[in-house]
Amino acid sequence: MLTTEQQNELRARLQAEITRIADHAQSGLEFTMDRDRDRIGRDSMDEATEEETFSTELRLRDREAGLLAKVREAMQRLETGAIDECEECSEPIGFKRLLARPVTTLCFECKSAREQVEADERPE
Ligand SMILES: [Zn+2]
Repeated sequence: MLTTEQQNELRARLQAEITRIADHAQSGLEFTMDRDRDRIGRDSMDEATEEETFSTELRLRDREAGLLAKVREAMQRLETGAIDECEECSEPIGFKRLLARPVTTLCFECKSAREQVEADERPE
C-alpha cells in the first residue's frame, strides 16, 4: 500500500508524462501542416525523402498514442489504489520500480519471468 506522498509523487510523474506526450503530438501536427503548405515546387527526390520522414513521424505518433493510453490507465489504477498491485501475482510492486516506470503492471519478479519466457521463445 502506498502512502499519500508516494501517490502524489506518482500522480505528478504521470501528469508530466501526459504533458510531454501532448506537447510532442502538437509539434507533430505542426510538422504535417508545414508539409502541406509548401508542397508545390518539389522534385521527386525530395518527395521520397519526405515521405520517409513522414511515415517515421506517424509511427512515432502511433507509439505515443499507445503510451498515452497506458499512462491514462496507470492514472486510473492510481485513483483506485490498484497501481502497486501486480496484475499477475497480486503482490505489491515496489515504489521505486513504479517511480521509474509508472505504467508498469507487473512486479519485478513477474516481469523478469515474462522476459525470460519471451527470450526462450525467440528463435535463434
Ligand atoms: Zn508479480
